[in-house]
Amino acid sequence: MAEKLKNVATGIVSGIAVGLIFIVFGGILCLTGIGALIGIPLMIAGTMSIFGGGAVMGLFIKNGKCPYCDSAIVWIPIQPGINCRACKKRIIFKDNVPTAIK
Ligand SMILES: [Zn+2]
Repeated sequence: MAEKLKNVATGIVSGIAVGLIFIVFGGILCLTGIGALIGIPLMIAGTMSIFGGGAVMGLFIKNGKCPYCDSAIVWIPIQPGINCRACKKRIIFKDNVPTAIK
């Protein structure tokens, strides 16, 4: 349990560290004028990296129940379907609702 918390903390810290590096580097590139073409996306990526670990992932990860066996499942909305970890059956998502394949 402590080990898991340590991993989460390390993930958050490294996410922030990478984000800050991207933002600083992006900011320097922006100062060069033409470098802003790369600098601005870098700064956006850096900001996303900082918030990405917890907040953004929390918004994107969906959870629900397997339509076959009622086991708890989690998925990312960009996934067209997953296999249930409990019953191994294929689940597809229709409007973000886990649906059994007929
Ligand atoms: Zn299942």
